[in-house]
Amino acid sequence: MNASPIIQGWCPGALRPMQSGDGLVVRVRPRAGRLTPDQARGIARLARLHGNGLIDLSNRANVQLRGVTPASHPALIEGLRALDLIDRDAADEARRNIIVPPFWTEADATQPLADALAQALAAADAPQLPGKFGFVLDTAATPCLRDVSADIWLETGPDGLLLATQADRALRVTPQTAVAEAIALARWFVENGGVNAGRGRMAALLQRVPLPDRFDAPRIPATAPPSPGTVAQGALVGFEFGQMQAETLAALADLGPLRVTPWRMLLIEGAGAAPDLPGLITRADDPMLRVVACTGAPGCLQAHGETRNLARALAPHLRETLHVSGCTKGCAHPGPAALTLTATPTGFALIRNGTASGTPIRDGLSAADLIASPSILTEFP
Ligand code: SF4
Repeated sequence: MNASPIIQGWCPGALRPMQSGDGLVVRVRPRAGRLTPDQARGIARLARLHGNGLIDLSNRANVQLRGVTPASHPALIEGLRALDLIDRDAADEARRNIIVPPFWTEADATQPLADALAQALAAADAPQLPGKFGFVLDTAATPCLRDVSADIWLETGPDGLLLATQADRALRVTPQTAVAEAIALARWFVENGGVNAGRGRMAALLQRVPLPDRFDAPRIPATAPPSPGTVAQGALVGFEFGQMQAETLAALADLGPLRVTPWRMLLIEGAGAAPDLPGLITRADDPMLRVVACTGAPGCLQAHGETRNLARALAPHLRETLHVSGCTKGCAHPGPAALTLTATPTGFALIRNGTASGTPIRDGLSAADLIASPSILTEFP
C-alpha cells in the first residue's frame, strides 16, 4: 500500500529505550502490573526532570516516558532503580513481559504467580525468547485478557487453572505446577523453531506445529474489555490516546496504588469514584473511547501523517471504533478495527474491518476532507 515501516522486532524497555521523533521512549514495566503511590509519584517527577513530561500507557500494560535524551537517560535509570522499577539487565527486562488483569484480589493466584513467573524468566537457564514474546496471567475470577498481544496465557478455567495459547484447547495446571509448565511451553516454542516463525510469535508457530495432545481442556469465554467506571477493586479511568501529563499521574498517585491495564486505563485501588481531574476519561459513553491513534507525526519518525488531531475531530461523528495510524505498522491497535485510517505518502487510506496494513477501500484522503465530511468514513463505494 505504501512505503513499509521498519519492524524492530523488539519492544522498548527502560534499559533499552527506542528512538522516536520526540526523543527516547523509555518503557517501564511495573512489577505485577502495580505501582505503589511512591513509585507513581516518582515516575511523574522523573518524567518532568528527564523527559518531556508526557507519559503513555501501552497496550502491554506498561508505562512509557517520552522525550528522554541520551544525556538524561542514565540519571533517569538511576531514579527508576531507586524506585525498584529496573531489572538486573536489558535481557531480564525484555523477558519480563507479563500482563496481569487489574481485577485480581488477594484471594486469587495472580500476584504470587506473577512473582514466581518473573523469577523463573530471570533464571540463568530461562528460555531465550524473542523480544515481543509475552505472558498473560488472566487469573482473576473471569478471564478478560484473551485479546491482548501475548503468546502464553495462564488463565482461570472451568475448574481450576489452565495453560493456554491462541488455540481453543488448554492444559490443566495447578498453582504449584503453573509456572514450570509455562516455562516448559516457552521451551517447546523455542525447540520447535518458534523464534524464526512469523516474527517470533506463538500464533505463527501454531500454524504449522500443533500443541502436544495433552492440551485437551476446554477454556471458558472471556469477558469484553471494561469501560471507565467503578468496579469492586476501585475506579478505572482512561486517558485520551492513553497519554497523560506527569502532573496527572502525580495527582492519581495521591489517591492510592495504581494498577496498569492493557486497555490504556489505570485502576485506582480502593477508589469509590473517579476523581475530577483534567484529561481523564471517566464515562463509558465518552466519544474519545471510540478512537485509537498512535503517536503519528511528528512524534514518530516513521509516520506519514498527523493522527491524533484527526482522531479527536472525528470522534464525535463515530458509531464504531476508528483506528488512525501513522503508518501500516498499526502500533496502537495491532488487531482489526471496524474503521482504520492509515497515513501513506499520498494521503490517508481507509480500511474496513481490517488492520492498518489491510486492503483499502478508499485512498488518497486528506485530513481536511475527512474533517469537513466525516460521512466519507461510512459511505463506501
Ligand atoms: S504505527 Fe504510528 S507509532 Fe507505530 S511506527 Fe507507525 S507511525 Fe509510528
